[in-house]
Formats: sequence, C-alpha cells, structure tokens
Amino acid sequence: MKFSDVIGQQELAARLRKGVREGRIPHGQLFLGEEGSGNLALALAYCAYIQCTNRLEHDSCGECPSCRKHLGMVHPDMHYSFPFPSNKADVATELYPEWRKEIPAQPYLNYEMWMQALNSENKQGNIPIKECHAILKNLSLKPFESEYKILLMWLPEFLGNEGNVLLKLIEEPPENTLFLLVAQNQDKILTTILSRVQLTRIPPIQNTAIAERLMGFGKTGAEDATRIAMMSAGNYLRALELAGNEENAYLEPFRNWMGFCFQKKLDKAVNWADDYAGVGREQLKGFFLYCLEIVRAVMVFPYMPEKSGLSKEEGDFVANFSKIVNHHNKGEKMYNWFNEAAYEVERNGNAKIILTDLSFKLARLLK
Ligand SMILES: [Zn+2]
Repeated sequence: MKFSDVIGQQELAARLRKGVREGRIPHGQLFLGEEGSGNLALALAYCAYIQCTNRLEHDSCGECPSCRKHLGMVHPDMHYSFPFPSNKADVATELYPEWRKEIPAQPYLNYEMWMQALNSENKQGNIPIKECHAILKNLSLKPFESEYKILLMWLPEFLGNEGNVLLKLIEEPPENTLFLLVAQNQDKILTTILSRVQLTRIPPIQNTAIAERLMGFGKTGAEDATRIAMMSAGNYLRALELAGNEENAYLEPFRNWMGFCFQKKLDKAVNWADDYAGVGREQLKGFFLYCLEIVRAVMVFPYMPEKSGLSKEEGDFVANFSKIVNHHNKGEKMYNWFNEAAYEVERNGNAKIILTDLSFKLARLLK
C-alpha cells in the first residue's frame, strides 16, 4: 500500500512521512479512527514508507525489494496481528493467506467483513493469549533485512486482559521495533496499553476525496458522487454502500478506445476522440479519473488479482489488459498521461486535442 492509494488524509499523511524522514518514529503508536476512515490503509502506507529503501518525499518508491514485499504483504520484518475466531486458528500467522487476499482487495474493510471472509459462522473474533505469546516471540528476533521490525495489530479492542503480557514489550521494545495499533474504539482498548502508546487520531475522510474516488471508480457521476460523499460523513465503506452497484458509465468507452489504440485503428480512435470530446468537462474529468483507477488496478493485478471495487466485467477487462500493459513500464506511462490529461481538462484544455493526442501516444505504446 502506498500513500497514493489512501483516500484523502493528505495533511496527516504528510505529517507521518515527515516524522519518518526526520527519524521520529515512536516505538508504540495507536492510529485511532472510525470505521471507513482508512486508519488501516494509512498504517499500511506508513509501514511501507518506513521500510522503503528508496523513499521519496511524497511516498514510498513502490519498486525497491522492500516495497515489492509490502505489496505482496510478505515482508519478513512486517508482522500482522488481528482478531480471529478460535475455531479457525491458534495464531494469526495461520491466517496470513486470507489476510493477504482480503486486505489489498479492500483495506477499508471492517470487523464484520473480515469475519465473513474467514467464514466465522457467527463465532466472535478474539486476539487470544497464544497470539500474544507468538508476538512476543516474533518481536524478540532481530530484523531480517530492514532497519525496523514492525508489528501492526489491527483492532486491539479484541485483546482481553491477556493483552497485558504485551505491556513490557510496548514499553521497552527491542531496538528498532515498532508496535503499531490500529483501532476504532478507544473505550474498548485496555487502559494499560492505551497509556503506553502515542496516539494519532485519524479524522473522517474529506468529502471531496471520497467523491473523487467514487467518480474514479466510475460508480457515479459528479453530482451523485458529491451528494453521496456528504451523506457518508467521511466513511468510505458507507459511501460505497450508498453508491451501490450502479452500472459503470465509463467502462465501455474506455474499453472501446483502448481496443482501437491497441489494434492501431487510428481512424476509429480519432473518430472516437471526436465524439467523446463532447461529453462535457466534468464527465471527462471523471472519465480520466476512472482511467487512472483501471490502470492502477492493471498494474497491481499480478499481485492482487481479486481487487474489489471492480465489477466482474471490469475485473475481466483488467485481467486481459494487464497482459498487454504490464511490460516495459507501459502502465506507469499511461498513468502519467491520464494524470496529465485530467489536469489539463481541469485547466480548460481542449478536450478534442487532449483525446486525439492521447490516442496517438497510446497506439504507439500499446502496439
Ligand atoms: Zn521502496
């Protein structure tokens, strides 16, 4: 997870990155934010940033060995802990396969969604004493390849009094160890733990950021997206629910356009560009945001083929398109071009010229 995948929260993200760059990484931390705020997404981006070996000011690089392992959630110095029903496992590591599948697909998930993914059959989740002992053991080892060893515990609200065995570890962790709790409900966290961590409050997501993401998914037009974002009160899960599974207005034009470019049918691509240029500025901006989402999905497809938020039709398209795009940094180039295009549209650039110009560039790239 990179910061660029996090919805909104830019001010907070900038503060977190600054802390890392300046070497201020408190060893016990709590990210506290309500459901749908993206506290887990932020925590994952933060951890990737800490362990990135080629850090940029605005994000982790996404390409160094550490970032690649983060993308697959297989970094040996990154441990995850979370609630699970006792009939499914003794310790969290046994459920890493499910975790690696669910989290990249929907890092904004809540407890109920996680239990459903585990087929918990109405059994309650819990972070049991065996898991606490496993954490103590894991964190006693030296980091394998990073400077930092990190334990990310999602929903420490599910730690019973057994959690107190972790106190000493949180208070005096081994050198270069980070204990990061990601929680929703302060009242349900053991007060003994609460008093030993540095608290970062994650606010609800800004409406504009939620609206942009909804438009990016092509779930809604600009007006609906703004209305839904306001109703969601900063909870992205709620916004997704409200947006429902409306038919996607952007997939078909995008698919057609890419088809013309790939088959080098330039006359058709130019005709298409002529037509589509008439849709209006807001819709065109939404279209480019959608292009960005699809290209992003295409680029991560080899690592997380079950990316949710995409419909079945989109998923199929992404799977096929990734075979064409995932060579020689084609995805990165496309991403940059669509980004520039969205920016130009916003600056009142000429839609026909932007689309035609892109058609030529894409035809050359995709051949
Ligand atoms: Zn990196």
